[in-house]
Amino acid sequence: MLVDTVNLKLALLCEGINFSKEFLEYFQLHTGHIEKRRAYGTGDSIILNSSTRTPQEIILEGQIIVAANYNPDSNYCISLDDQTAVLKHGNRAVKITFPKRPKSYGMYLSNSELFEQHVTVYGNSTLGIFSPGHCYYFNSGDECKFCSLGSARESLSDHKMRIKGDIAGEAIATAIKVEGGRYKRVLLNGGTIPNYDKGYSIHIDLLERVKEANSKSTLDYHLISMPPKDFQLFERFKKVGNNMSMSLEVFNPDLFKEVCPGKARDYTRERSLAAFEAAVETLGRGNVYAGFVAGMEPLESIIEGIEYFGDMGVVPAVAAFHPDAGSQYSNRPRPSIDFLMKVGKKMSEIYQREGFYPLIEGSGRNSLDTEAYLGGFA
Ligand code: SF4
Repeated sequence: MLVDTVNLKLALLCEGINFSKEFLEYFQLHTGHIEKRRAYGTGDSIILNSSTRTPQEIILEGQIIVAANYNPDSNYCISLDDQTAVLKHGNRAVKITFPKRPKSYGMYLSNSELFEQHVTVYGNSTLGIFSPGHCYYFNSGDECKFCSLGSARESLSDHKMRIKGDIAGEAIATAIKVEGGRYKRVLLNGGTIPNYDKGYSIHIDLLERVKEANSKSTLDYHLISMPPKDFQLFERFKKVGNNMSMSLEVFNPDLFKEVCPGKARDYTRERSLAAFEAAVETLGRGNVYAGFVAGMEPLESIIEGIEYFGDMGVVPAVAAFHPDAGSQYSNRPRPSIDFLMKVGKKMSEIYQREGFYPLIEGSGRNSLDTEAYLGGFA
């Protein structure tokens, strides 16, 4: 059963999802379901219209979460069957549900700004903070070519550009007050600034404030960030966070340069690999994650990367590429099911061998991590 659901998730990641007209009308009115919010990327091949509510994620059988990345050319379409949302593929219709719209959306914080301008709920159980909402690689056109942060923030987002620790702490406290058992973690992510040590320190300052304001909660704290140049800063993270992910994105050295020119030029692959070594030394095996985008390099080279990091004690975290409107790769093809299946199997093998856990278990809508952990790639 899990294997079938995981197959369906892969198919949706490989094609994206279309929406029928009736479903879109239904979704405008059914405001109890969470709507897509774009803190860091457009997510869709085509932007319908910034005022049209579309689902952010769908939930398949067994609580498997998948991103609802809109693609009008997909063979999978969310439609209506007797006023209930179903996922249609040919003659087949599968029942789906959506994460609930958080009760904290629409609430005002003490600075008179909306909760959701500071915190976005992802994958049903993750409280996401994205700050800063800009990445300096875009200034010179050297952003990662799959990244659509620039376009998302230009016209499709009302998120604050810089999130302050105090107000983020208040927002997180609000979320857990109004929906107690729902949230499992805080995930901080953000764009890159030219001073890597400063950028990393600002992340830790923010996490510290949020944690202080929620000292009685059982939330975990995760960080996705470019590494600092001063590896001693990992000691600071150790005091506040549970685990940390750094995204190399692409393992092959030449393709890394091609796909992520800003990272390759200003931080370099060599320094990245050294940062992973240093982070594992400080945080321990299984507490550092390496982010990959599947679909940027040949199968052999991503598999080589997964094995390389697994041996180092770094958990491979793989997201499936989606061609986002507004990114340099908006017309690039998505990876095939067979490709993702082989990547997932390799991840499963390494997770099992090393006793690794997914970064945000059950919450990764574009990622294969939870499914690899659960052994869903048979
Ligand atoms: S580092 Fe790359 S993926 Fe991350 S925000 Fe900057 S351009 Fe986008």
